[in-house]
Amino acid sequence: MKVLISADMEGTCGVVSWVHVTPPEGANGEPSNPVEYGRARQRMTSEVNAAIEGALAAGADEVIVNDSHDGMRNLIPEELHPACRFISGNDKLLGMMQGVDLNDIGAVFYTGYHARAGTPAAPLAHTWTGFLNDVRFDGVSTGEYGINAAVAGYFGVPVTFVCGDAKAVAQTQEMLGKQVVGVVVKEGLSTFAALHLHPAKAQELIREGAKQAVLNAKDAKPYTLRPGALIELEYDHQARADQAALMPGAERTGWRTIGFRPQDGLEFNRMFRAAMKLASIRMSP
Ligand SMILES: [Zn+2]
Repeated sequence: MKVLISADMEGTCGVVSWVHVTPPEGANGEPSNPVEYGRARQRMTSEVNAAIEGALAAGADEVIVNDSHDGMRNLIPEELHPACRFISGNDKLLGMMQGVDLNDIGAVFYTGYHARAGTPAAPLAHTWTGFLNDVRFDGVSTGEYGINAAVAGYFGVPVTFVCGDAKAVAQTQEMLGKQVVGVVVKEGLSTFAALHLHPAKAQELIREGAKQAVLNAKDAKPYTLRPGALIELEYDHQARADQAALMPGAERTGWRTIGFRPQDGLEFNRMFRAAMKLASIRMSP
């Protein structure tokens, strides 16, 4: 069995600011600091390595790492565990789940994950971008942990590990169950503050958790999106919903909200990504 690690950055130990996670050429006009970003990407890489070590120690045949943050060029290649292969760069059809379609992937691990948009006391909580206020599956709010689980589920792969802030771990387990081993590396105090473990301690817990997550994979269930489930995307502004509603199959379900009904997780991936691209407009044309 192989493991796919989807490596995000906001949930990394020590990270509490967009400054930590924005590369120098950051697209959103966020402030960036090469020194702070550089340290955070080292810690991100170390947490991924800890997960790889745990997975291999528990008998995984191979670990593939998919850089899943921003431009997806954050992991430091020469500092990654030598036994892994890694995916970097954008655009990728499966985005944060790229690699889940490879042969013999038996489990997905989430590292550096964060809570969904709007969550209080959760560092850098958001969903996909800054302009998506909520994502609902049949009326139930979810975040990146749910979006990505639906894509992995299409390929029959369960999620069995998450590390990040306390709210990210709780939300992931609430949706996907206790088959997901959760490692809390920080407790959020606000959107931009947290009480952290020492990074070395966080990595030790990730290593141990990843071992258990490989063992859990045998009996874990993939998350299967109900065929025809109502997916709703609620934006921060009605103009974004105007544009996203142009997508074939989309309908307007609220002032700032569109809905669509994909038949499976792969169609969901395409429609979600397309609606997000359409909604990425300048707000004053
Ligand atoms: Zn991210």
